Amino acid sequence: MIDRAHGYFQREKETMSKRRREAYLKERLSKILHYGYRYSKAIRSRLDAMGIKPEKIKDLKDLEKLPITRKTDLVTAQKQTLPFGGFEVVPEKGVRRIYISPGPVFEPGEWDYKDIRWAQALFACGVRKGDVVINTFNYHLTPLAFMFDESLKMLGASVVPVGPGNLSMQIQLMRQVHVTGFLGTPSLLMSLIEAAEGMSLDLKKDFSLRAALVGAEMFPESLRQKVEGKLEIFVRQAYGTVDVGCLGYECPEKKGMHIPEDVMVEIVDTETGKQLEIGATGEIVATTFSKVFPMIRFATGDLSYLTEDPCPCGRTSPRLGKILGRTDQVTKVWGIFIHPWQVDEMMAKFPWVANYQIVVTREEYHDQMTVYVELKEGTADQTSLKRRMEKEMEEVLKVKGEVVFAVKGGIPDRAKKIDDRRIWE
Ligand SMILES: [Zn+2]
Repeated sequence: MIDRAHGYFQREKETMSKRRREAYLKERLSKILHYGYRYSKAIRSRLDAMGIKPEKIKDLKDLEKLPITRKTDLVTAQKQTLPFGGFEVVPEKGVRRIYISPGPVFEPGEWDYKDIRWAQALFACGVRKGDVVINTFNYHLTPLAFMFDESLKMLGASVVPVGPGNLSMQIQLMRQVHVTGFLGTPSLLMSLIEAAEGMSLDLKKDFSLRAALVGAEMFPESLRQKVEGKLEIFVRQAYGTVDVGCLGYECPEKKGMHIPEDVMVEIVDTETGKQLEIGATGEIVATTFSKVFPMIRFATGDLSYLTEDPCPCGRTSPRLGKILGRTDQVTKVWGIFIHPWQVDEMMAKFPWVANYQIVVTREEYHDQMTVYVELKEGTADQTSLKRRMEKEMEEVLKVKGEVVFAVKGGIPDRAKKIDDRRIWE
């Protein structure tokens, strides 16, 4: 059973040709739309409101005809129709768990969890039959920890259902039961490392850890290097939300996140909801094939882009690039949208920059943009650097601003990339 499952993850699905993948997705899309239209009150009324029947949606491109569903739509619908807002399709066996995510959003959990997407993420990260994995995701109210728990079972791995918190107990447990895999947020993994170092433990000798899958938070490359360096293990990330499950996972090559086969992912223009071409940055929107709580065009609020370049790992799926931030982190200066990821890309061209922050203020009804920059030691010729940065800013962001060099430590480590200090009175 387990070995067949491994083959299943690796070969039958993950190496489908583009044509076969598209045919597979078309078929699943058609099925879920018919199913949702028949059994889910909310899906039917949303399609009816647009005057669209499920048979009109034939492929990924046709999805554009359907409205985007946002978290706020779920919250509103659930206020009217408790508990699930009519989005649910309660199967014969009933609902195994009722999850409550911030919002609040109520979500029915299926009786038998068969979704293999998180298991694919675990497998790609190196988790195998016989591994002992510490699951530090929260087992309280929300579904993520349970999804992983069930997925570990699919792989034949044991789970230590510890949840977050109590670092010294976690460290003790990891040693006592020879934990080989970690599941949790990157910041919790870092806290564990720091706590273990504080207890004078040798991270390589005193632990049996060999793989870590992180998620639910931004995972900057600098943090990965730090954690991988300290533990000498693979640390890979997976991306998803509690509403739509896993939407991407890294393979050993870490060249973006492979999109699992059993979900449809679009990158759309935040304003229009139209699909963007490969490589363009937009909002991640997902359509799931859940038979209990199907989501049609659910907007995640996260920004990314797609790549279809072949991956050396052999998986043929398109991949999500980095998660570039949230759609709501956008700031408007002089009427122009500025996203934190644009600022990141711009700053990446200047290797002398140690830290930076954009501060937006308003004087006499005019927006002012100031970029405070901390330089690495030994940077010469600040005058020419200032000029080049201001030019780049105007070209990339299309907004004029002033670069001011800050003293070392002048910008707090966790400061917002774009600090909007305008007061609208
Ligand atoms: Zn790959």
